[in-house]
Amino acid sequence: MVLDSAGDERYTYITRAYPKSSPKPMKPAPFNYIAAQTIDQALHCLSEAGDEAKILAGGQSLGPMLNLRLARPSTVIDINPLEELANISNDENGIRIGALVRHHAIETSSIIADRFPLITAAARHVAHPTIRNRGTFVGSLAHNDPAAEWPLIAQLFDAEITVRSLRGERKIHAKDFFESYLTTTLEADELITSVYLPFLEGDYVWGFEEMSRRLGDFALAAVGVLVQVNNNICQNVRIALAGVDESACRATQAEQRLSGQQLSDALLDEVAEIAAKHCDPPEDLHASAEDRKHLVRVLTKRALKSAWNQ
Ligand code: FAD
Repeated sequence: MVLDSAGDERYTYITRAYPKSSPKPMKPAPFNYIAAQTIDQALHCLSEAGDEAKILAGGQSLGPMLNLRLARPSTVIDINPLEELANISNDENGIRIGALVRHHAIETSSIIADRFPLITAAARHVAHPTIRNRGTFVGSLAHNDPAAEWPLIAQLFDAEITVRSLRGERKIHAKDFFESYLTTTLEADELITSVYLPFLEGDYVWGFEEMSRRLGDFALAAVGVLVQVNNNICQNVRIALAGVDESACRATQAEQRLSGQQLSDALLDEVAEIAAKHCDPPEDLHASAEDRKHLVRVLTKRALKSAWNQ
């Protein structure tokens, strides 16, 4: 990600980059535009331009970044002509989401509603319908806004991200992909072609809770949980958070505390407290760090209760 002098703190970059006295550009700096006709062509362009190139998927994050000149690529490589990347497909072990699958397609997919109902519930929190018509699941992972829903989902479901470059193909597990604010382990010459979500083995109950100022705004905090309950005992607990650290993350200490236990009100309080203690939320004009920790406590309890009640 190429940022101006603003540095890498998403929550302050706009004001730091453009102090009140300076004019705020609303048009991008000039760039070369290439509409890739094949994946190979996109990879060659990426390889040639290196750090100076940006992939254009839905453009719902890249567009504002260009207009505000927070990104100044020399080349924008549009992958929208690559229809082979626009599908959701499945095999016996999971589903594959291509790089051009829009948020709306996720929201309305019957296989996702059937096998990953938590994802269908989360999709309704992603921006507004017009943005969901263009923005892509994969673009959101590549962009890695800490308050976005899809990086949380990728972590919760142990997604595997397939990336290609002229050097070959590699697969990156979600836990190794997201680094910090708008930063991932993707190399400059790599294109994400798809994301694989394995089906869960066994019966899971789930909960997803989010708080934002207005419907469609980025999350102040969001929590997703998956739990297997056998004989009233919680097993294989997964808890993922967004909006409360430099990247979406798993609340591993809270997961460990709940695993092997029977849920009680006291334990619920303790698990929520652990989740809040181990995150490091940003402080901005929308909420203080302590407000966000409070939201983690409340939303973790709500999500676990909602799962338990299933
Ligand atoms: P682009 O904007 O096209 O690209 C984003 C970045 O990812 C760029 O750096 C691009 O180069 C890179 N990239 C894209 N695809 C690939 C690829 N295949 N391989 C490598 N790099 C790639 N998002 C939320 O999650 N929750 C919200 O509540 C939310 N609210 C929003 C509100 C507004 C008003 C707006 C404008 C956006 C909002 N978004 C929200 C962001 C939206 O979901 C974007 O669609 C998403 O973050 C990026 O997807 P995109 O396809 O638009 O990617």
